[in-house]
Amino acid sequence: MPAKKKATSKAVRSVAKYLVIVESPAKSKTINKILGKKYKVLASMGHIIDLPASKMGVDFEHDFKPEYAVMKGRKKYLNDLIKEARDKEAIYLAADPDREGEAICWHLKNQLEGGKSAIYRVSFEEITEKAVKEAFEHPGPVNMNKVNAQQARRILDRIVGYSISPLLWKKITRGLSAGRVQSVAVKLIVEREEEIRKFKPREYWSVEAVLKKRGGVPPGEEWTDTFGARLMKYKGEKIHIPDKESVEKIVGRLKEEKFIVGDISRKERKSHPRAPYITSVLQQDAFNKLNFSAAKTMRIAQSLYEGVELGEEGSVGLITYMRTDSVRTSDDALRDVRQHILEKYGEKYCPPKPVPYRSRKRAQEAHEAIRPTLPLRPPEVVARYLGPDELKLYELIWKRFVSSQMVNALYSVLAVNIDAGDYRFRAGGGQLVFDGFLRVYGAGVESGEEIARIPPLESGEEVDPVEIIPEQHFTKPPPRYTDASLVKVLEEKGIGRPSTYAPIIRTIISRNYIKRVARTLEPTDLGELVNKVLVENFPGIVDNEFTARMEDELDGIEDAKVEWVAVLKDFYDPFSKTLEEAKERMSSIKRQVIETDEICEKCGRPMVIKWGRHGRFLSCSGFPACKNARPITTGVKCPVEGCGGELVERKSARGMFYGCTNYPKCTYTARKLPRESEDAGEGGTQVEEE
Ligand SMILES: [Zn+2]
Ligand SMILES: [Zn+2]
Repeated sequence: MPAKKKATSKAVRSVAKYLVIVESPAKSKTINKILGKKYKVLASMGHIIDLPASKMGVDFEHDFKPEYAVMKGRKKYLNDLIKEARDKEAIYLAADPDREGEAICWHLKNQLEGGKSAIYRVSFEEITEKAVKEAFEHPGPVNMNKVNAQQARRILDRIVGYSISPLLWKKITRGLSAGRVQSVAVKLIVEREEEIRKFKPREYWSVEAVLKKRGGVPPGEEWTDTFGARLMKYKGEKIHIPDKESVEKIVGRLKEEKFIVGDISRKERKSHPRAPYITSVLQQDAFNKLNFSAAKTMRIAQSLYEGVELGEEGSVGLITYMRTDSVRTSDDALRDVRQHILEKYGEKYCPPKPVPYRSRKRAQEAHEAIRPTLPLRPPEVVARYLGPDELKLYELIWKRFVSSQMVNALYSVLAVNIDAGDYRFRAGGGQLVFDGFLRVYGAGVESGEEIARIPPLESGEEVDPVEIIPEQHFTKPPPRYTDASLVKVLEEKGIGRPSTYAPIIRTIISRNYIKRVARTLEPTDLGELVNKVLVENFPGIVDNEFTARMEDELDGIEDAKVEWVAVLKDFYDPFSKTLEEAKERMSSIKRQVIETDEICEKCGRPMVIKWGRHGRFLSCSGFPACKNARPITTGVKCPVEGCGGELVERKSARGMFYGCTNYPKCTYTARKLPRESEDAGEGGTQVEEE
């Protein structure tokens, strides 16, 4: 088998005149099919050149000159590429159309330069025949502004990470890391947890009235003569009912009053279609509707973008590039989608002109929104070639894009005021009159039942109270972040970019600073401790606005508005001072621990939580005088029959897990405690990770 494979590749090599380099095998397959035999398409497998892992690798004396090195395990790929490049007339660098892709191309160019072959950069937003061929007709140079934005970002992250992390090792435990953007995300989650802890629920009451129209329902009518209304106002002001005593007084007064129908308004309300997806919104929707983590969404989107085998058609890219903050749609795609809407749903659903959308102000308009590629393949056409998760995500993207170019949905909204003395109640509801874009978008169609069931009423008409229902409520603390709400807040605050939201979440979980609890993100005590040390010693680095400004500066480099070395200098001068001050201050503070109620059975001193190579453990606070230490058990018995051990927290590169106290004799491990997963039941849906 291997011999046969080799023969084929030799045969191809003999006819290929051009070398094309992309990041991944799936992408190379799709492009190979488009370009044909004259092109040999190879995958670089992502970045090949990077800063060295073993040292800072930045020359502070010479304009932050990076000391690039071939990444561990990538030498072989590079050598293959160099060998293949030798006899080619031209080399086309075709990595993804963003900063990281541009940097991959630039590093490759530096490695492959010097031979006879010309080296070009080609860039396309979607991997379709038309887009790829067009890109190859207009090859250009590597875009150095993009490369410099990537270099500045990489060096910034390196300086922050490699300068601060060793301080955390000394004060908390080895192996910890700080990161420029990741630490800000942890801070947001910790701050939310503090708000929740501080939160004191406040009592309030609502009053609902069940009212009855006099005279009964004539035969053949759809409405019912009883309907609900909610107490809204007292003497024209919004009502606030703080406690039981007040509500009882109100209910008593209401029993004396006549209920008279006041103003009746009937309005039409439009519901607009939503803009096609950008990365952040796709991640939020896929989390809320499909329960996909941000990382899972991006992995699946990547596979749809790079190409899916569609039977005889071969490998086809099904969506445009998935890292984007632009809602722009190409003219071809607009023409295509409008034609689809006309043919499939008719003129009533197709607006006279394309629906315009505006991107947020920071958006990189060179990109397009995430949409299906052309021709628009409806989900049912590709369903049999896709895995279940791929299909779900493709369907989401397809529906969002097609519906974005359809007409508004129309609702009829009814609002009826009912006065009982100084108290005003409100009854009403909405009814869908025309579905418009909802025909495709589906989700979120409001029920039309309520309005249809309200009896016909007239101003001045008296209705009879059947029941007055007071109900007690309590204000709720702010909710914990989820993948969706964290991505949303990061975007709103200008922290991170389409390429970084998912990696940020993955990093803070794998570093064990944040844990997933059902659908929410909660800080671990390690996360809280690291955050505390960073906030106390590097307030500038974990500042939201500072981080947002850095991202803007990086955008400025890409747009050729600022020079990258200048950006690094402006950052480094104050940072190096802060670093020296922090080192000074931290040299005098003790190693950070978390106190517990547990008592050391050997010396009676309290036990504290420390972090070691395998995660958290209990250590005697008398250390080093008393060396007592034990794992933190969870109180949950090991489910392995006859083992008798208990489950304890452990740590791996992918985050927290539970192991058995009898390890290595018992090798039971689990991501969740067995009891937790049972408790999760119906309400406790777990987020689907990669
Ligand atoms: Zn002790
Ligand atoms: Zn066990």
